Amino acid sequence: MPPNPASSFDAVFIGAGHNSLASALHLASKGWKVAVYEQAAVAGGAAKTGEYTLPGYRHDWAAMNLSLFGGSAFFKANGPELMQNGLEFVPVSKPFASAFPDGGWCGVSTDLTETVANIARFSAEDAETWQRLAADFPTEAPHLFGLLGSPMKMRALAYFVFKTIRTKRLGGTLDFARFLLQTPRDFLHGTFRAPQVQAMLGAWGMHLDFAPDIAGGAMFPYLEGMAGQAFGMVIGKGGADTVIRALTAALTARGGVVETGVRVVRVLHGNGRATGVELADGRVITAGRAVIASTAPSALPRLTGTDTPFDQSLRAYTHAPGTMMIHLALSDLPQWRDPALRRYAYVHLAPSLDQMARTYQQAVAGLLPEEPVLVVGQPTVVDPSRAPEGRHTLWLQVRMAPGTIRGDAAGAIAATDWAEAAAPFAERALDILERYAPGTGATILGKRIVPPTELEADNPNLVGGDQVCGSHHLSQHFLFRPVRGHADGSTPIRNLHLTGAAVWPGAGLGAGSGFLLAQKLTGK
Ligand SMILES: Cc1cc2nc3c(=O)[nH]c(=O)nc-3n(C[C@H](O)[C@H](O)[C@H](O)COP(=O)(O)OP(=O)(O)OC[C@H]3O[C@@H](n4cnc5c(N)ncnc54)[C@H](O)[C@@H]3O)c2cc1C
Repeated sequence: MPPNPASSFDAVFIGAGHNSLASALHLASKGWKVAVYEQAAVAGGAAKTGEYTLPGYRHDWAAMNLSLFGGSAFFKANGPELMQNGLEFVPVSKPFASAFPDGGWCGVSTDLTETVANIARFSAEDAETWQRLAADFPTEAPHLFGLLGSPMKMRALAYFVFKTIRTKRLGGTLDFARFLLQTPRDFLHGTFRAPQVQAMLGAWGMHLDFAPDIAGGAMFPYLEGMAGQAFGMVIGKGGADTVIRALTAALTARGGVVETGVRVVRVLHGNGRATGVELADGRVITAGRAVIASTAPSALPRLTGTDTPFDQSLRAYTHAPGTMMIHLALSDLPQWRDPALRRYAYVHLAPSLDQMARTYQQAVAGLLPEEPVLVVGQPTVVDPSRAPEGRHTLWLQVRMAPGTIRGDAAGAIAATDWAEAAAPFAERALDILERYAPGTGATILGKRIVPPTELEADNPNLVGGDQVCGSHHLSQHFLFRPVRGHADGSTPIRNLHLTGAAVWPGAGLGAGSGFLLAQKLTGK
């Protein structure tokens, strides 16, 4: 987008991820004059779509699943405006499944009878448990969503606890707190009998950095399982960038400015107050009311040039292991041993909790995992517009990949530089896919491998290819995301705020931190 001549705004945003754009739209709707500056050539951060393999094949660069956005408070408030500006979802009735080495599989569909039949193949008792959990979900969901949507301030939390005690009583509230602290393995072992059902749900923890034995991870397998059952999934018509295109169009229609291809190099401040930003091309943009940085925490002190205890905490912020993406253009869908798997949006190749725990541990130790977890996204199953007729795209998320390689757990890849290790590690991932779906390799028409280093080069917030911009482990979540006392994005510099995945409620396309901040700034 061409440079905008204006140089004075109420609020200036650093980075055009969806949180910034959502936040900017809310501010603009309240009459603020806003501008968003993005260093990449295209807005969207980790929500971008492009023809990364062959012409006519549209791939989601990073995020594909838009359920968090579709279910967000921001979307509830702004859905009609976004739809008018071109937002289009495609509903998915079979959101996810897991395939197992013996050719078996288990999957969740919005048709409860179907899910129950899938689970019953492994355990009749688990099928009954699933029905009970699904029946209870409408009563349980408001507590979890209430917590995840609440500002992380003591007052708001106290009110949340008070409300929970009123409905759940003290015992129920303590059980809820215990559930929030549990590891995925504790929850899954305590709830289900069949290892396959446990693995199918445990795979959701691996989308974040909640391997089976990490405290605080139980809610993700539960929430994704139940939400998948109740609502399915949504993806973007034509690509996840439908969200970004609609947000940008709505924002510019309200007079907001979105400029890409220009990096913010400095936050200007004086007398303890932020006054604007300096761009890489030398322009100075002033912000009368707010400078809002959607950066990785460690990047903020580099922009402010300060070294306060707050800055030291930001530098100590920890990142999760990285991700490698593989985009494929295919002449057919994967040749799963059971073609029933061709109907699911995601197929997880994460056959057991033990394997997931091992994979995570190896990545944390800096090793290329022997058997990475694969999330096989099949968007063209529900959105054929993303590929030429009869052809398909495949979105392969390879979890976990160390940002910095210290070695190879399988002892086969000598390279410790991603420039050399990417190809053989991608081959390892594709060999795994081939084991589960023999013959898929022969259908590959085009391939694009994106190692963690390239994810970070494209979007500096994905430090080491960390797709969640910071671990969500308990010590860095809730009141502690990104730093105790600043979970609302505030900083010691007046009018300077942080937003994005590193701020409560964290990663994903739920526009949570951006919307909470904009509501705070405008008094709703
Ligand atoms: C591989 C992958 C798969 C994912 N899959 C899903 C999924 O399916 N569903 C889901 O809900 N979530 C998914 N996520 C997570 C989700 O995409 C992110 O949590 C989300 O995009 C974070 O949004 P954000 O608003 O914080 O900013 P980001 O999307 O991180 O964007 C931040 C932007 O700021 C820009 N920026 C940073 N510094 C500067 C600067 N100094 N000057 C100018 N611009 C700057 C960056 O270039 C970037 O464009 C995935 C993430 C990845 C990486």
